[in-house]
Formats: sequence, C-alpha cells, structure tokens
Amino acid sequence: MPETPRLRPWGHATIDTACPLDCPDSCSLHVSVEEGKIKKIDGSHRSQTTGGYICAKVRNFDRRVYGEDRLLYPGLRTGPKGKGVFARVGWDEALDAVAGAFAEVRDRWGGEAILPFSYGGSNGLLSQDTQDAELWRKLGTSRLARTVCAAPTGAAFQALYGKMPGVTYADYAHAKLIVIWGANPSASHIHLVPVIREAQRHGAALVVIDPRYTQLARLADLYLAIRPGTDLPVALAVHRFLFENGQADMAFLAGHARGVSELRARAADWPTDRAAAEAGIDAEKLDRFARMYAERSPAVIRCGWGLERSRSGGSAAMAVLALPAVGGKFGVRGGGYTMSNSMAWGLRAAMWIQTPEPATRLVNMNHLGRALTEYDRPPVRALFVYNCNPAVTMPDQSRVLRGLARDDLFTVVFDQVLTDTARYADVLLPATTFLEHYDIAKAYGPVSLQLVQPAIDAVGEARSNPDVFSALAARLGFADDAEGDAETLIRVTSAMPENIRTDLLDHGVATPPHDGAPVQFVDVFPRTPDGKIDLHSEALAASAPVGLYVYQPDPATDRYPLALISPASSRTISSTLGELREHTAKLEMHPEDASARGLSEGDSVRVFNDLGEVQCELKVTPIVRTGTVSLPKGLWRKSTFNGLTANALAPDTLADLGGGACFNDARVEVASLGRH
Ligand code: SF4
Repeated sequence: MPETPRLRPWGHATIDTACPLDCPDSCSLHVSVEEGKIKKIDGSHRSQTTGGYICAKVRNFDRRVYGEDRLLYPGLRTGPKGKGVFARVGWDEALDAVAGAFAEVRDRWGGEAILPFSYGGSNGLLSQDTQDAELWRKLGTSRLARTVCAAPTGAAFQALYGKMPGVTYADYAHAKLIVIWGANPSASHIHLVPVIREAQRHGAALVVIDPRYTQLARLADLYLAIRPGTDLPVALAVHRFLFENGQADMAFLAGHARGVSELRARAADWPTDRAAAEAGIDAEKLDRFARMYAERSPAVIRCGWGLERSRSGGSAAMAVLALPAVGGKFGVRGGGYTMSNSMAWGLRAAMWIQTPEPATRLVNMNHLGRALTEYDRPPVRALFVYNCNPAVTMPDQSRVLRGLARDDLFTVVFDQVLTDTARYADVLLPATTFLEHYDIAKAYGPVSLQLVQPAIDAVGEARSNPDVFSALAARLGFADDAEGDAETLIRVTSAMPENIRTDLLDHGVATPPHDGAPVQFVDVFPRTPDGKIDLHSEALAASAPVGLYVYQPDPATDRYPLALISPASSRTISSTLGELREHTAKLEMHPEDASARGLSEGDSVRVFNDLGEVQCELKVTPIVRTGTVSLPKGLWRKSTFNGLTANALAPDTLADLGGGACFNDARVEVASLGRH
C-alpha cells in the first residue's frame, strides 16, 4: 500500500488543506498550528478561485473545534430523550451497544427497521458513501433518498443535459449579461461576487431574481422580487417571448435538442402579463428582462437552489436551465448556465463501493417525521444519524421531534458537536472535523478536487467516519478490521483514474479537465443517452405527478396569506455552526405587512399555521417583498423563544420532481406575542 501523503512535514507550522463543507466553492486553506492547536485558518492560493480569502464561517471554525458544544467522548443516555444528558463511556462499550442493538433489531424486525440518516454536514468524498454505505448495504437497512436539497434541480439537470458541466466563476468576466436566479452568492458562494463586480465594471448587466433584496440585488441593473414559488411562470414567459419574437435559436434547437414543441406549448400559456401578475411583479420589468436576455450575449444564468424549494420547483429549474438552449447562448466563453459542477470529474461513489445495493425500502428523508411516527412495515426501530441534524433541518419539524422522542426508538448520533438531534441520542459518538482527518473536497461551483489533510490530532476521543463505520462493520461480522481515514483515502483514490489519483496524493490538488473552465458546446456536451438536450424527457414526465412545466397554484389561504422562506445566511452552512449563534433569530417582514398587523420593529411575534408556531423577534425591513416573511435557514432550537424553527411551519409535501422538500410552500400568519 502506498504511503499516506502529507503535503508538508508533520509538525510544520502551516498545513495545506481544503474546505469540504457543503458550499460550492471548496476553498484551499492554510491552517497555522502552534503546539498542536489551531492558531489561524485562512484561504490559500492553491485554488485560483479561493484567491487567498475565505468566509468568516471557516476562518472562525476553531470556535467549533474547541467550543463548549464539542463532543469529546462517547456517551450513553442517562436522562430523558431530548435533554442531552449522557454518561461518558469508552469506544468499545459504545460500539458494542450500537452493534448489539442493530443486530437485535435486524433479527427481530428485519434490516429495514434500521434507518441510516445522513446529508452534507461533511461533504467530503470519504465522509459519506464509503464504509458507511458498505455497512448499510450488508445490514440490509432501509435506504435513504437524500432529497432535502438539490433533488429537484438534480433531476431536471440530469434529464436536460446529463449534468453537463457549466460556466465556471472566472468565465463570468466574459459575460455581457449575468442572471442570478434563486441564489445568494454573498452568503453561500462568496467567490462568485468579485467576478460579477468585475464583469459589471466591464459593461455586463446584472439581473437578480429573488423574493429577498439581497446584496447583489442592490447592485443589479434589474431586480425581480418575485413571489416565492413563481419561478416557473416567469421562466416560461421568457421562453414564450423568445419563441414569439423570433429570438429562439431554432437552428441550434433543431440540431441539439428534443422536446422543443412540448416546451413551446407550455410556454404559450404564459404571456408576460399573466406571468407577471402571478409573480407579483411589474409586467414591464418582466418584459425588459426577456428583451435583455434575448439581445445580450454572452449571457450566463446562475441557477441556484432557492427556486426548487416549492411545489413546482423541479419544472422551474428545468425552465430556467432550458433558457440558454432556446436563447442560443451556448458556444461562447461566459455564455450558458452554472448549476452544479460536481460531476465534471466523472467520479461516482459506485467506483469504490463494493457491496451491491439491495432493493430495500427507500425512505425519502423529507418524510422523516412520517417514517418515525407512521411507518409500520416494519416500523423504524433504530436510527443512525451522521453528517446531519434532522431535528432542525427537515420539514414538519414537530413531527420529527415527536418521532425522535419515542422511547422505543434506538437512536445513535455521530457528530462533532451536541446538536439538537444529538440530544435525543441513546448512544452518542464524537466525530472528527475536517481539520482532524483525511478527506477529499470536490467543489460544485468551480471545477476542483483537493486533498483534505489533518492539521491537528483528533480532539478528545473523536474518530473519523471511515474508522467508526468500519469498526462497526467488524463488530457485526462484516469485516476483519477497522480501516481509518488514511487507508480509506488510498483505497478510494485507487479507484480513480491514474492522473487524478497521482495529482491528489502527490500534489494535493487534481488538474481539472479543460483547465477547469469548459465552454459549453465547445469543450463539453450533454451527457444524455443521445447527446441531445432533452427539453421534455418522457421518463421524467412519467415521474412528475402533474407533468413537466405545469405550474401549481400558490397554496396561500385567507388564514395563512404570507409566504415564509428560509434562505441561507452568512452565519451557517445549512445548520452547521448554528451552535455559535448567540442571539435570537429575527423574522423579516415588509413595513406594509407589519403595519397591516399593527406590528413594530423588535416586537415578539408568533409565526403560525396549522403545523405549529414559532416565537421570535420581528425585524421590519423592506428587504423582503410584501406578502413574504423570512427566517434564516439552519437555525438551532435555542435561536427562537419556543425551540421551533421555520421548518416547524414547512409542510412535508414534495416538489414535482425528485421528491424534493417544499420549504418555501410554508404559508403563515404573524401576530404579536407580547413583549418578552
Ligand atoms: S464554507 Fe465555502 S467560502 Fe467558506 S471556506 Fe468553505 S468553501 Fe470557502
């Protein structure tokens, strides 16, 4: 076995590594260490995109590593579920307890009574879909559909283009029109912002489409403050404009696309006036956007993940991603779309998972509450949570919490800190952070693949994901020995193409295809079965309950007229780092809506619907459009007065494609709670 690499001698004051958190940018990092402790975390220049600077979240990540919530030792629950009281035990005792309980559940109820539950809390390639997948497959557990984010856009993107890589950040400098649709780069992929500013200085026009007046919206030439969930009619109106005004690139479509007539027929239903009325914006503004898009090239659309979080979210993503095809925007540098570039390397976990996937029950993670409280064939009797904090991140939060509180549910939580979910654990296992283990960081904004290497020894008795899952597999009789993260790194990279493996292990960074800046329809092409853009995939249409490009009306009612959104903030990455938030969260509400309810800045309010109630403070601000209120994504329970977050008001209905969550379909009313 080749020796495990270290890019710098161990003990050197500065370690080169990378950020594998769930953020598109995947920054390259310099971590300064003194006497075995982190002194400073900063951006390096190894990744051109990083350019030597990073976000404040990771610059201050040592607050998580050494914070008071950090889990240092395994524990067994001693108090009531949810209270977070544990007795310290050794790893052997903790792992024996987990293996024993899992074997018992499997023998009595069947493997499907065990539900592994994970998402992107650590997005590194070694932290998920390595030994964990081998273990769950061998145990025959229920399978998890990881749908809480990117499922509708992923389904749309796959069907349309086979996930053809998109325009990378640096190429925005070549664009004459930049459209930011349902994304807030200032909060969640900061390295795109300076390139946009540079492009603006060179004459690019900027259009921002978002219910919230983001930092980039303030700098935009045109801002469309659309009502949440109305992206589909807006995009279809632009398609209609292109087709009706001779601005659709019919020659390109004839050579490179299928399903044109179906898309055109759906778009015909949405004249500008009708779409603008549905979206709650001026028809003149929508018309202006359509003209700008028709006339300016190169034009790039950054399609974000905000627009997928509603009932028509999958079709909305399809319609937005189809615009460059209909508008003839491909084939030039700076023209096309940016979605996710994670598949640019062609790496799939199937390359290194050896155990075949059994056809066991598939549980949509957005239905965790139902799974824990209703499923009975078999009931979920054991839950293993890692890389994720479902007590605060899943829809219908109250039902999730009821499920987690079940006394007959055996719950294991393997995490870095005492999350809200960890408080419900029967067995608590401490996990290493990315500063304490090997991993591989794959960006999904830029095209980059970097080695993550430990800067410090594991804090307390924390262990890496590969180490713990292989140790459990050994206890359950599926493996001879535990395999640590270093050995897993060697094994996983061995399954990669030789050039990628060598680059990663010898230099810490792989050389990207097309210099990391492919031009669509010059360097890269659709990866669909026949190489064409499929604007109306029959397979996808068959899976969509209402068909493709079909708008479903706003779920608002007279009782609950306000749309509640929960966008990403600059403080957390989903819920990661939520433990560090010190102040109570504020609900943002437009002054007109506040005035209509007799509410004022700083009031304590109740935000409610039939699913529940969140109690918090009010911020009156025109940053949100009328008819919409906003609470930050990723809040922990301590961040509101009553321990519930925006997800307590989000239904667990599913989007039209991919089984995605409909967080932005929460409709609520707001009333005064009386001062605290
Ligand atoms: S969270 Fe994003 S911006 Fe921050 S360091 Fe990680 S990759 Fe960079």
